[in-house]
Amino acid sequence: MSHLPANGIWQQCPKCRRNVHRLEWGNLQICPHCGHYLRLSATRRIQQLSEKFQPLPELTAAPPFAFPGYQKKLAQAQQQTGASEAFTAGTATLSDQAFVLGVMDSHFMMGTLNTIVGARLRQAITAAQQQQLPLVLVIASGGARMQEGILSLLQMNTVLAAYDALNAAGNFTLNILTDPTMGGVTASFAFAADAVIAEAGATIGFAGRRVIEETSREPLPPDFQKAASLFEHGQLDAVVARPDLAATLTQLLRLHQRK
Ligand SMILES: [Zn+2]
Repeated sequence: MSHLPANGIWQQCPKCRRNVHRLEWGNLQICPHCGHYLRLSATRRIQQLSEKFQPLPELTAAPPFAFPGYQKKLAQAQQQTGASEAFTAGTATLSDQAFVLGVMDSHFMMGTLNTIVGARLRQAITAAQQQQLPLVLVIASGGARMQEGILSLLQMNTVLAAYDALNAAGNFTLNILTDPTMGGVTASFAFAADAVIAEAGATIGFAGRRVIEETSREPLPPDFQKAASLFEHGQLDAVVARPDLAATLTQLLRLHQRK
């Protein structure tokens, strides 16, 4: 028998490097020693932020391009996450309040935006509009998915256009930015909501830190692109600790009830 921790039961904390038992990480996936947040899967996030969740009909399609190795990567991501794509949406309730909840999953090809994720985002926006419900998006994305090239970039515009129509219709929209929120997602709909809040510690930006440092040849402050720094500079409405997120969501939904 090996003296090393068994896979799947113990997981090393990326911050304090201690081995933490699966049960100690808990549903919220917080390190009991240093408070570090692991990135949540879409399934865990849905459990955290809703009491009931009814998924929308699942849109799927074959990838538009045969980009080398893409099929294999997709199949791997599907196998690892048990999800068919990087975004899941459905109608949800929390403390008796109904809303449409959409969640991006960074475990699925870094939550990247492609044609299907774009189509599912528009589907969630349409569902909120038709059912006159608030829309809550939990964002976790590395940006546009390069394997679908220009078609991924196109989603920035089409999703944003649908999102603007929902805002114009007067539905309450809330975006919860989680780690990481980057690239084309930041540059399109991530900041388009009525209220934009972030989970504490999240990295939020457009280009990556290293790219900016190498291009500008300037040292960047340690809190660069961190949620707290963005809040200080007026880009976010609030920064919320993970254990408080459900209560904050409840409060915001109550404050923005239509009737
Ligand atoms: Zn830790």
